[in-house]
Amino acid sequence: MIVGCGALGCPSADLLARAGVGKITLIDRDLVEYSNLHRQTLFTDADAKNQRPKAQAARNRLVEVNPEIEIEPVIADFGSYDAERIVLHGKLGKPDILLDGTDNFETRFLINDLSVMHTIPYIYAGAIGTKAMAAVFIPGKTPCLRCLFSAPPPPGSQPTCETAGVFAPVSAIIASYQASEALKLLIGADDRVMDSMLEFDLWEGQRRRIELAELKDPQCPCCAKRDFEFLDREDEETRSICGRAAIQINPHTRTPIALPQLAQTLSTQGTFVTTGFMVKGRLAESDIGLTVFHDGRAIFDGIDDPAIARTLYARYIGC
Ligand SMILES: [Zn+2]
Repeated sequence: MIVGCGALGCPSADLLARAGVGKITLIDRDLVEYSNLHRQTLFTDADAKNQRPKAQAARNRLVEVNPEIEIEPVIADFGSYDAERIVLHGKLGKPDILLDGTDNFETRFLINDLSVMHTIPYIYAGAIGTKAMAAVFIPGKTPCLRCLFSAPPPPGSQPTCETAGVFAPVSAIIASYQASEALKLLIGADDRVMDSMLEFDLWEGQRRRIELAELKDPQCPCCAKRDFEFLDREDEETRSICGRAAIQINPHTRTPIALPQLAQTLSTQGTFVTTGFMVKGRLAESDIGLTVFHDGRAIFDGIDDPAIARTLYARYIGC
């Protein structure tokens, strides 16, 4: 199961599909953008032009690569509300591995909680600017992510893909590393799995390895005390989307939306089209892009103020 089909998820999914990994679930909440194309290697100009959902666009590409495997796209926000259901009750069954293709620590800590709670190996990675790091966390054997980082870094304290960008070769290398470790685990070559955390800076030519065993925290809230804080936490309703001026609203009510009906309502406000997964278009008055998914989630493009997004959500979609 690959959580996030971006700069990490694309290359790792490609390698795993080509290797013949029989069942791959791809999870992503977002749409393909032109600014993604330099590093998100499964997507094409047409995917960006048509703003296709990343999970679906990735699946379409991988089916062409290897039609003999099962690939399940999940277009959803991997938040505490849904994550456990997606992991345990997805169409392809409980995964053997959780592979990190995310761009934020909140989601990583949630994956870590699920990994420890349900004993599923977690292949962590992160890439930002010209730097990347990765590690394999195996419940019961290695430390977990929270042994290394007790809490997510405070907002604004770390560079993001918005502020620092991602040098594409960096994400390609670290995603290949993830695919390599996944293949070892899948064929049972556990003794070959890396037992250290890898860090490198491709621009400076620096590389560092940290032995994982030394980092195990006997007081770890997750793997020692089994307090699954991130799974129990309520999701934020409003999030900004890394890499572009966009705000996502994911209402707690989770009321399914009749997309054709919504498209009709919105047609008086701008140009909107319906696909199987969403209604999308632009609000004529404000020239803001709007995409609404059937679970009520909406993405507003071209704004970075959450308050405005919430107002627009109430106005055009309802509370
Ligand atoms: Zn731990």
